Amino acid sequence: MSRVYNYSAGPSMLPLEVLEEAQRDFVDYQGCGMSVCEMSHRSKQYDAINNECLSLIRELMNVPDNYSIILVQGGGSTQFEAVPLNLLKTGKADYIVTGNFAKKAYKEAIKYGDIHVAASSEDKTFTYIPKTFDLRDDADYTYICQNNTIFGTRFTKLPETKNPLVADISSNILSEKMDVSKYGVLFAGAQKNIGPAGVTVVIVRNDLITDGMPICPTMLKWKTQVDNNSLYNTPPCFSIYMTMLNMRYLKAHGGVEEQQKINEYKAGLLYDFIDNSDFYTNKVNKEDRSLMNVPFVSPTPELDAEFIAQASKNGFLSIKGHRLVGGMRASIYNAMPVSGITDLIEFMKKFELAHK
Ligand SMILES: *Cc1c(COP(=O)(O)O)cnc(C)c1O
Repeated sequence: MSRVYNYSAGPSMLPLEVLEEAQRDFVDYQGCGMSVCEMSHRSKQYDAINNECLSLIRELMNVPDNYSIILVQGGGSTQFEAVPLNLLKTGKADYIVTGNFAKKAYKEAIKYGDIHVAASSEDKTFTYIPKTFDLRDDADYTYICQNNTIFGTRFTKLPETKNPLVADISSNILSEKMDVSKYGVLFAGAQKNIGPAGVTVVIVRNDLITDGMPICPTMLKWKTQVDNNSLYNTPPCFSIYMTMLNMRYLKAHGGVEEQQKINEYKAGLLYDFIDNSDFYTNKVNKEDRSLMNVPFVSPTPELDAEFIAQASKNGFLSIKGHRLVGGMRASIYNAMPVSGITDLIEFMKKFELAHK
């Protein structure tokens, strides 16, 4: 068997042990004579998977008792509309626009209310996180995308807001410690740091679980899934099962605290190498750098294309940057091993020598 290093921004790598455990149990889950793919979501076996998944997320993220966790479908993108539909009361919300996903969320929200851009870093192609914000205290919420997957930036310090802070953490959930009590709502599509695509984790402070706007569809209403332990309709059972296995794996390997140390080490190796090179460049403001997504360029777009082609031939897959940025991007989520960084650096050195 030959496994590659996959630097895709998502779906991304999962630990081999997790894949192998799912493989062992695939046809006959724990002696029940069928696969999790075939199992009723009302069965006692599935109920145990659902509950263990929810309680592991709660434990690993240290989610306080006054918050609910739900598992929903539609990816991170569906929450772009679910957020205003659940939270708008006065009709006002403030958005901090730090990249493509924040902008998409803003564009959904403006359909439903008076939405104000409290800060934007688009003037410098989203290479930094704004430090001052024009916030309205009477808005229903303030929205951020905490880690900007495409541009490789992240908030290292949260904005101070008078109203609930809503954060898209699709690409940094479980990668570093977070104080959940500082947020009103957190959400993340699974396919970057949690498990396979198909499931989205939403964490909501209980006082924000309401009927929402009168036009809020039942399926987008967080209350619907909160009231039904995420079993209102058929969930993506297999994705949730894989997520549960991945959460067990993370817990067995020291949880988020240990994972953060590894992530800081991995990102540090790569940024140090890039910073000390006169061939590769990372254009992001240093203090705002992401631990998960590392964009970089070589001296020319032609060399970038050559780098991507050579990398792919050598087992470093999906390292092409997003079309909005160009160049390369190494997404180095939790499951990327340290060797995926050190081997990549060796490859980068060789490429530089051959093309300088
Ligand atoms: C990938 C991503 C999304 C979109 O997620 P989908 O599950 O594909 O809808 C949203 N926000 C961020 C920060 C992301 O990285």
